[in-house]
Amino acid sequence: MTESLDALTSLVAGGGVVVLSGAGLSTESGIPDYRGPSGVARRHTPMTFQAFTRDPLARRRYWARSHLGWRLIARAAPNAGHRAVARLQDAGLVDAVITQNVDGLHSLAGSAPVIELHGRLDEVTCLDCGNLTSREELDRRLREANPDFVAHVAAVNPDGDVDLPDEQVAAFRPVDCGICGTGMLKPDVVFFGETVPPERVARCFALVEQARALLVLGSSLTVMSGRRFVIRAAKRGIPVAIVNQGPTRGDGHATVSVDAALGALLPALAERATGGVDADAATMVAPAGV
Ligand SMILES: [Zn+2]
Repeated sequence: MTESLDALTSLVAGGGVVVLSGAGLSTESGIPDYRGPSGVARRHTPMTFQAFTRDPLARRRYWARSHLGWRLIARAAPNAGHRAVARLQDAGLVDAVITQNVDGLHSLAGSAPVIELHGRLDEVTCLDCGNLTSREELDRRLREANPDFVAHVAAVNPDGDVDLPDEQVAAFRPVDCGICGTGMLKPDVVFFGETVPPERVARCFALVEQARALLVLGSSLTVMSGRRFVIRAAKRGIPVAIVNQGPTRGDGHATVSVDAALGALLPALAERATGGVDADAATMVAPAGV
């Protein structure tokens, strides 16, 4: 562990790093990682773009569940891992962050630039007129259309990831676009069965190809959407470092692989790589009562 942290530190301290982050970075902010160690309890198959756009019942079910789940996302805050990445970026060692996460927590932690590969849950797009609106605004409209829904369902099951009984889904009233009046609304995230906009992918490839090193944080690299950047880096001879809890599908391409909790390791890495004191790292090593 110390040895791999040393290797990781010298790679990052050299600068020119591009970060590729996944769900494992946000679990410590209370957002479940369906593919990582805490994902064994996964109960739902993901919504596909095809089902969402073609099946009114699937869409109603999605918005009913999402109306509950949004409360979890909206109150999530960046954790020590996000803050450490922002600090490495501030110090000029990380050039850009590419994230597979849709929670917006990198930006909230102060990272810039951040490319949100799969979009953001806090934005909503109209599939007819193309207007983007805020999820906050949609949440207000959904509350108005479903005044007692959250309180009623939360009383049944407080964990936020609920199997909604059919009668509760049937009682939920989704809303249409508030701008064109009739358009179908969709969170501005890339669903399964949907492709990432090509210009966004091209921008990520360009960043990876110019990088001195690619640092993967909290992704098992299960889907090609993220793994392709690791493959491209490896092909170009750009070193790849991976920090994740558990094995990943990119381990064969990695120069350094560390199996660790990100919220503990990243502040230590930031402190060593920047040669300064990291508030989060300092907190963790301070003896009790000091
Ligand atoms: Zn519209």
